[in-house]
Amino acid sequence: MRKLNKDELKKRACEIIDEKAEYIIGVGKKIYDNPELGYKETFATKLILGEFKSLGLDTEENIAVTGCKGFIKSQNSGPTIGVMGELDAVICREHPHADYKTGAIHACGHNIQVAGMLGTAIGLVSSGVLSELNGNVEFLAVPAEEYVELEYRSELRDEGKIQFFGGKQELIYNGEVDNLDIAIMFHSLDLSAYGKKALIGGSGNGFIGKKVKFIGKESHAGGAPEEGVNALNAAMLAINNIHAQRETFKDEDKIRVHPIITKGGDIVNVVPADVRMETYVRGKTIEGILDANNKVNRALSAGAKAVGANIEITELPGYLPLLNNNDLNNIFNENLSTLIEKEDIVYGGEFAGSFDFGDISHLIPSLHPFIGGVKGNLHTREFKIEDSYLAYIVPAKTMALTIIDLLYDDAKVSKEIIDNFEPKMSKDEYLEFLYKVSKKIEQ
Ligand SMILES: [Zn+2]
Ligand SMILES: [Zn+2]
Repeated sequence: MRKLNKDELKKRACEIIDEKAEYIIGVGKKIYDNPELGYKETFATKLILGEFKSLGLDTEENIAVTGCKGFIKSQNSGPTIGVMGELDAVICREHPHADYKTGAIHACGHNIQVAGMLGTAIGLVSSGVLSELNGNVEFLAVPAEEYVELEYRSELRDEGKIQFFGGKQELIYNGEVDNLDIAIMFHSLDLSAYGKKALIGGSGNGFIGKKVKFIGKESHAGGAPEEGVNALNAAMLAINNIHAQRETFKDEDKIRVHPIITKGGDIVNVVPADVRMETYVRGKTIEGILDANNKVNRALSAGAKAVGANIEITELPGYLPLLNNNDLNNIFNENLSTLIEKEDIVYGGEFAGSFDFGDISHLIPSLHPFIGGVKGNLHTREFKIEDSYLAYIVPAKTMALTIIDLLYDDAKVSKEIIDNFEPKMSKDEYLEFLYKVSKKIEQ
């Protein structure tokens, strides 16, 4: 058979994705109807695993507790591109479709991106396009992007099931990223406020996670409060102390500190002796995060000290700031411009939210655009799909087209990107950093 040229390969991939559009959207809907929190995504893993198998891909199951990947074993010598889609939901009990038991809901649109990733796989694999390219593609359904349920994840860590709380951190630790040369994914975002349909090249904050335990002394709350040490008062003072630090945070560091109390006491007539807090300290740069983190620790300790309580602060490595590779941005942009109007695409932008893809982006050239088709802010009751074609199919096609550009003609384009890339950290430096951030402070 005559070798197809690049445009013909692109056309073929898009045709297959269009043919399968309803099916791809249906997979996203099934995951939406069965929301699961991080490291519990058994339904979604099984579903995507079955899809990989029916595409004839080799598979690996439970790549980080849950999750799976599809790939072709007999890889050729070209570069390997990882296409990722996330599996986990968030908790937002206010959302009309939230699971009534767990409160879980896909209000971050991860069901969209994992189905979109599958769409890219369909476009490249079942079309036969991939076998005409000079490189490899691995499709990864990644668990636990949302950094939540810190107690549950601590248990998993204590049981030796995970080392780190984020799914992509685990992938890196488990060696699943070692053979990837480039990583690609997309995230849904409501861009209607800008009158746009896509955003390319945005940055995201990194963060340190914290679990805090205020240890007081129980006593009868009515009969003998003077004999108790009120751990809830310690926590409330600590929160106010954190507020008093805010004017010292530099605007350009985009610091965000947002504690919640996960346990405020046991019963109302006992002075609270065990109060728990979780928080992130987010920022745009690692230095900014570390600086704010010191101030937050100072604030927490002072709250405990004021009432004579003790404190345990467990510091957990959160995510690194998100970096987008410019060459990848440009290729994605060119391809996206063939599917939607150029003026519907916005460039740059700083997000104070965080993505564990940021960690990957410190190691290999990475691409993480935002695509519309959804309405309402992430993690809120308003979040919903408005335009399924834009949300699922446009990014599925654009990722497939981008990969064709990267791997066509002896993978010239991707080889150049890989050669020019200077990683912010090596894998060893990265893991060392995570271990350095993990610590326990007891006072
Ligand atoms: Zn989210
Ligand atoms: Zn998300």
